[in-house]
Amino acid sequence: MLEEYHKKRDFKKTSEPKGEVKPSERGRIYVIQRHDATHLHYDLRLEDEGVLKSWAIPKEPPAVHGVKRLAVQTEDHPLNYASFEGVIPEGEYGAGRVEIWDCGTFDLLEKTSDKYIINIKGKRLNGPYALIRFKRSGDPKNCLFFKKKE
Ligand code: MN
Repeated sequence: MLEEYHKKRDFKKTSEPKGEVKPSERGRIYVIQRHDATHLHYDLRLEDEGVLKSWAIPKEPPAVHGVKRLAVQTEDHPLNYASFEGVIPEGEYGAGRVEIWDCGTFDLLEKTSDKYIINIKGKRLNGPYALIRFKRSGDPKNCLFFKKKE
């Protein structure tokens, strides 16, 4: 599941972790990294199946109900990416500064091939969230991320 992640990066040049597929022992990892790359975006990562499932959100993730954000699924990342902060060098994939914007754990409430319903326990984001794949048209990587009513 990390083939694409490994293929995109030269670990002699970037300080990002190489990582492996491995479940964590203390609850499911939730992290959002603020990534100041060509376009500033927020990388939402959720632990599932021994990796961090990942989505790039072009605008600040919503802390309240009523705001829906586009979330574009990206390649799986290793679990130890959750603590990564630093600068990916110029010329490398994703060049730019990565900072942890929020982190914690989450409970998986429901999962299908088209959605995750989760309860996030972070500092900035807290409570029930949905991540739902667009049904009708377009790229299957496109999802909506939003807070549900509590
Ligand atoms: Mn990114």
